[in-house]
Amino acid sequence: MSHRIRLPDVSETLTSMPTSGPLVDTFGRIHTNLRISVTDRCNLRCTYCMPEDVVFLPRQELLTYEEITRFVRLLVPLGVTKLRLTGGEPLVRRDLDKLIAQLRQIPGIRDLSLTTNGILLAEQAECLYHAGLRRINISLDTLRPDVFRHLTRREGLERVLEGIRVARRLGFHPIKINAVSIRGVTEDEVIPLAQFAREHGLELRFIEYMPIGAGHWERSKVYFAEEILQQLQRTFGPLRPVLEGDGTTPAQEWEYPDGGRVGIIASVSRPFCHRCNRLRLTADGKLRYCLFALEETDIKSLLRGGASDDEIVLAVRQCVWAKWEGHQINTARFIKPTRTMHTIGG
Ligand code: SAM
Ligand code: SF4
Repeated sequence: MSHRIRLPDVSETLTSMPTSGPLVDTFGRIHTNLRISVTDRCNLRCTYCMPEDVVFLPRQELLTYEEITRFVRLLVPLGVTKLRLTGGEPLVRRDLDKLIAQLRQIPGIRDLSLTTNGILLAEQAECLYHAGLRRINISLDTLRPDVFRHLTRREGLERVLEGIRVARRLGFHPIKINAVSIRGVTEDEVIPLAQFAREHGLELRFIEYMPIGAGHWERSKVYFAEEILQQLQRTFGPLRPVLEGDGTTPAQEWEYPDGGRVGIIASVSRPFCHRCNRLRLTADGKLRYCLFALEETDIKSLLRGGASDDEIVLAVRQCVWAKWEGHQINTARFIKPTRTMHTIGG
């Protein structure tokens, strides 16, 4: 099924949709969190994310840093306080530190973070730190070069590990490690990754493999949260669930008997749609209310077509108001979006 692009009719106001106050949907969920993809390009080719023969967008399709900053400025008064830069691989976009510095200057942004595969981190970390970035997520599914090569279709494990070393030395905090868990591929990585994270003061989170990549996804390929937990408990002893925060973070945190934590994101076995507070802006300027959304709102056309701030805000409100209850990943009604992960922003 192809995506339905909503070309917002800015003259339209939907009955009962609030035109002031926070970004609320029809289920009462308030949206405070925006993920911004700065590019669909990448220097890896992870099998679970993109096809090997991927074709990237022409550069002129990408939002400029000025366009992204204008959009964020419009969303902050609507209650958006949390930003994450992602991609594709955000560090392949030139001068990312300039965007970070621009976003840091926007009053009201309380949390700015970056998700990276770590390949270019060692060389860019200092620049990013000076631009004001402190929170960083690094994707690392394995500590074995052969498994890394198999999963990413590229070399580079040593560069990622060096990126982690440099980020630690500079004082990034927290440094989170994201590890996708795929049955038959990453079970043997769970314990080594947990030990590595514990030794180096990194916050590890396992993420269930989701049907959003290029390859053929089947439920049977997901190595489930429950199984990861059992595996961890067999090695480290009983883990205690941590209850904290506002409940909007997708990871369930667990505490080791001797202290320290590990997170598990059960995106497939226990979706968290009912407390989702996220919006996603793709690199080509489409706003999505869900990772799995089948429709999107064309913000780029508005930004480049001379739309006023009010018109853009109205389009955002309409996008949020149209948000579905959830993606129904565990039902026969689930439809996999045509966009793959790297073109949305994980
Ligand atoms: N290139 C950066 C990276 O890999 O960290 C940022 C973009 S990547 C799409 C963001 C996150 O999505 C990564 O942690 C990656 O492992 C995760 N991801 C990609 N495809 C996935 C899938 N099918 N299921 C679960 N997580 C996935
Ligand atoms: Fe690139 Fe990240 Fe996708 Fe891997 S998961 S191919 S590193 S965008």
